[in-house]
Amino acid sequence: MARDNELYDVTIVGGGPTGLFAAFYSGMRQLKTKVIEAGRHLGGKVAQFYPEKYIYDIGGIPRISGQDLVWQMKEQADLHSPEMVYNQYVTSIEKQADGNFKLTADSGETHLSRTVILATGFGIYEPVRLPVENASKHEGGQLHYTLLNKEKLSRKTVMIVSKNRVGIDWALALEDQAEKVILVNESDTFQHMGSDDEVRLEKSSVDVKLFHEVRELIDQDGSLQQARLMNRESGDEELLAIDEVLVYQGIEFKAAPFKQWELAVEKSKITVDPGMAASVEGIFAAGDAVHYPRKSMLIASGYTEASTAVNSAALYLNPKASAQVYSTVEYKYKE
Ligand SMILES: Cc1cc2nc3c(=O)[nH]c(=O)nc-3n(C[C@H](O)[C@H](O)[C@H](O)COP(=O)(O)OP(=O)(O)OC[C@H]3O[C@@H](n4cnc5c(N)ncnc54)[C@H](O)[C@@H]3O)c2cc1C
Repeated sequence: MARDNELYDVTIVGGGPTGLFAAFYSGMRQLKTKVIEAGRHLGGKVAQFYPEKYIYDIGGIPRISGQDLVWQMKEQADLHSPEMVYNQYVTSIEKQADGNFKLTADSGETHLSRTVILATGFGIYEPVRLPVENASKHEGGQLHYTLLNKEKLSRKTVMIVSKNRVGIDWALALEDQAEKVILVNESDTFQHMGSDDEVRLEKSSVDVKLFHEVRELIDQDGSLQQARLMNRESGDEELLAIDEVLVYQGIEFKAAPFKQWELAVEKSKITVDPGMAASVEGIFAAGDAVHYPRKSMLIASGYTEASTAVNSAALYLNPKASAQVYSTVEYKYKE
């Protein structure tokens, strides 16, 4: 458990692929490391946008699902037990008179660190919440805004609420493992539907309810049991027995406040030098958050930039430190 005002060597803002690899690498360099993530989940855009899809362009891994990649990255980062802080959106970063940084989250909590690595991507993407009274109570329990933790939905009756193609993708991805999938759409079409999506949906066992909206989530002893739906054409209502709810109603974007943090910015991203140092001494950055000529927005680029940022932070903290870990051949970690 993090204690307020405990000083860390490296604080990484953002727990996406770049931040997680930075956390692993920072631990390997024996730096006292903390990760602060705005959301409930790690994995950044991979977890949020394509956990069920396969990724093919990571060296040495011919094919891996987004979800598995996030789990493996978390496992790798955990080898050095970094402090992981969730649900804290960092709003301010101040360099204090002693040279240490004070980071403040929207919750009011503060964090002290000798260096900072920004791995925030472009900012945060917040799912548009289901506008039903007690939805927030079940969020993270039986109500989800991402398909991360797909296994949790095995052999369950899953209600997906979406009028977007994402809802179709999720329904088809769950069809085989769930007991039953019900896809509820308040409209009569799905936005951004692919040419064969309608056919795939028709051939599937997914129960599609067009022109229906969720009016109420009904629980018993804290456990979600039923959803009350209303047919928007007829006004008729029905009760559905459900175990889990998945919602995709779009995403709201909030850009990272780089200028507020007094960092030099180009194309709305942090300007970095070849050592991934930002314009404020002691702040480094990596991944989708940064800009330099020919920058590519790839997970693999974020990994390289993360290790460079950590090596630069290590040298900043101790100019006599080695420039990098030259080989992990003799590296020992707990099994
Ligand atoms: C649909 C799609 C498919 C893609 N496919 C591929 C692919 O096949 N291969 C590939 O290499 N790349 C792919 N990419 C790109 C890849 O996902 C990104 O390059 C990668 O996610 C960047 O990682 P990151 O950690 O730098 O940023 P992000 O993944 O954006 O993670 C940033 C994290 O920082 C957190 N955060 C932001 N601001 C704050 C704050 N102020 N306080 C606390 N936390 C904060 C966010 O919540 C988020 O978790 C794809 C992207 C998309 C959208």
